[in-house]
Parts: sequence; C-alpha cells; structure tokens
Amino acid sequence: MRTLAGQRKGELIVLSGPSGVGKSTVISELLSSRRDIHFSVSFTTRQPRTGEADGVNYNFVSRQEFERMIADDELLEYAEYVGNYYGTSLKVIREQLERGVDVLLDIEVQGAAKVKERCPEAVLIFLVPPSIEELSRRLHRRNTDEEETIQRRLEKAREECRESVHYDYLVVNDTVVSAAGEILSILQAEQCRTSKMLFMIQSIVGNAC
Ligand code: 5GP
Repeated sequence: MRTLAGQRKGELIVLSGPSGVGKSTVISELLSSRRDIHFSVSFTTRQPRTGEADGVNYNFVSRQEFERMIADDELLEYAEYVGNYYGTSLKVIREQLERGVDVLLDIEVQGAAKVKERCPEAVLIFLVPPSIEELSRRLHRRNTDEEETIQRRLEKAREECRESVHYDYLVVNDTVVSAAGEILSILQAEQCRTSKMLFMIQSIVGNAC
C-alpha cells in the first residue's frame, strides 16, 4: 500500500494451507515470477529435515531461545504446531514493509489469525486441494508417512480448511501454474484497492481531499 504522503509500503501476504496441498511448490512458482517479493524465513524449534538448511528453510533455534524471543516480544506471531514452536520475526517484517517490499509468510491458521488481528491490512490467502480425495492421493504419493500419520494429517486438513472462511481469498491448487497465477491476480487487485490508492487521489485533486 501507499501512505497519504505517497510512499509505498509493502504488502503483507499470508499463505496457509493443509499439509500436502503443495504450498511450497506454489510459493516457488510465485517467487520465480515475482522476484521482488521477500519470503519470510520463520523461526522454529523443530529439527531440520533432510535437505533443509538453517537460515534458508527456517531459522532453527532451541526451545529456550524461542521462549526468550516470545518474552522479549520479538515475534509478530507464533504458534505451537504438532509439539513445536513456529514464529515470524517482527523486526525483519517491519523493515521490509517500511522499505516498500512485499512480504510473503507461509504460516498455519492460528498464526494467520494473529497477523490479521495485529495487521488488518494483511492479505490472507488459503490454498485448498481440489478435493479431500485428491489430498489423500497426494499424501500417499509423497510416500513419507505411515498410513496412521496420513489419516491424522487428513483430519488436521479438515480442521484447517474449516478455518479458511476467515481468510480473504481461497485458491484451489488444481495445477501449480493456475494456483500461482490466481495468487498473482489477487496481489494485483489488492494494489488497486481504493484505501491503498489514496496517494493517487491526492495527486489528482490536491491536498483538499
Ligand atoms: P513444517 O514443519 O511442515 O515445515 O510446517 C508446519 C506448519 O507450520 C505449516 O503449516 C507451516 O505453514 C507452519 N509455519 C511455518 N512457519 C510458521 C510461522 O512462522 N508461524 C506459524 N504460525 N506457522 C508457521
């Protein structure tokens, strides 16, 4: 958005979706077309998975360090998810937004609700699978979990999808290209919101508006 003075502030974009929906692939597609978007690297207390690097996928920290960050109010939001903490650094986000850079957060539903509470202008997008059957097929195809874990993830997915009514937009991840394309369209439309174009009105009609 832009302030009345005409200086553009970055857009805070939140993307959520159940495990297995393909969020990371959609995010990669999105970031390859919008290289100006800053992807926020979260802090977490969970162990790195094979192939994950500190500072790239997450900032991996101890539970003690995470609890210090909470106590020192360093986080925009945080949540406990399946026994681990996940959170977003307030300082990094604030700096990027002030510089006019759009910031993308990949966070779960409790964190998204906190962001909306603290930053009502944030754009909340929820990615859903075309159907629960398709999500089940995708989780089986990944071949990383036992059947019991897959069933737990599917139950969790139903719970999370119920929360999607609180989001501003719902995007169906049918194909990665179409889902990323829809998100790009949403971001374009958001920039044209009247509330974000006050600088334009002001430049046309002068300060009297
Ligand atoms: P995973 O452990 O599979 O990488 O992530 C588990 C969940 O945590 C995902 O739904 C992901 O979106 C969410 N998550 C990742 N970073 C954050 C964060 O900073 N805050 C919150 N609230 N959730 C996060």
